[in-house]
Amino acid sequence: MKLTPLIDRRRIQKRVEELGSEINADYTGCQNLVLVCILRGSFVFFADLIRQISLSFSCEFIQLESYGCGVDSSGSVKIISSSLDNIENSDILVIEDIVDTGLSITILYDYLLSFSPRSLKCCSLLDKPSRRQQPVSINYVGFSIENQFVVGYGLDYDQFYRNLPDICVLDLSKP
Ligand code: 5GP
Repeated sequence: MKLTPLIDRRRIQKRVEELGSEINADYTGCQNLVLVCILRGSFVFFADLIRQISLSFSCEFIQLESYGCGVDSSGSVKIISSSLDNIENSDILVIEDIVDTGLSITILYDYLLSFSPRSLKCCSLLDKPSRRQQPVSINYVGFSIENQFVVGYGLDYDQFYRNLPDICVLDLSKP
């Protein structure tokens, strides 16, 4: 396996600050903002991003399972656990690590819409538009990347590599 750096920690930090500023501006005056962390991949991004947001908001956590172990989507996405409560009439901002085929976010949106939120938006650290199978609109994107498998900054391969401070491409074909 070969790891090749793609986005270093300084670029990530700068972009997270920019996203935080955009979110601060867009949600100014919002009374019921809820930020939803999608576990497990987005926990590092979530932890950094929320500290750039100076508004009042609550945090919720939803665990999805879309990849088993490997680099290809299993094609089925399940909500494994969710801590949501009283989010009717809230402004929900979903914080994702990466949108790939769009399957996970589509299923998640259906689930969240069933709670009748006032608004529903998504902020994703990474976007792989060339892999899309479902048309989804992402309101805030950190970085658009090519069709390559990445790890680090919370993203894993078989639960490993989440601790890498930089986002790296993982090439399984190389020794
Ligand atoms: P989607 O349902 O959009 O195909 O996939 C979304 C989920 O697949 C992400 O939340 C993430 O868990 C996983 N995923 C997609 N692409 C990658 C990738 O390049 N690296 C890692 N580590 N996970 C990915």
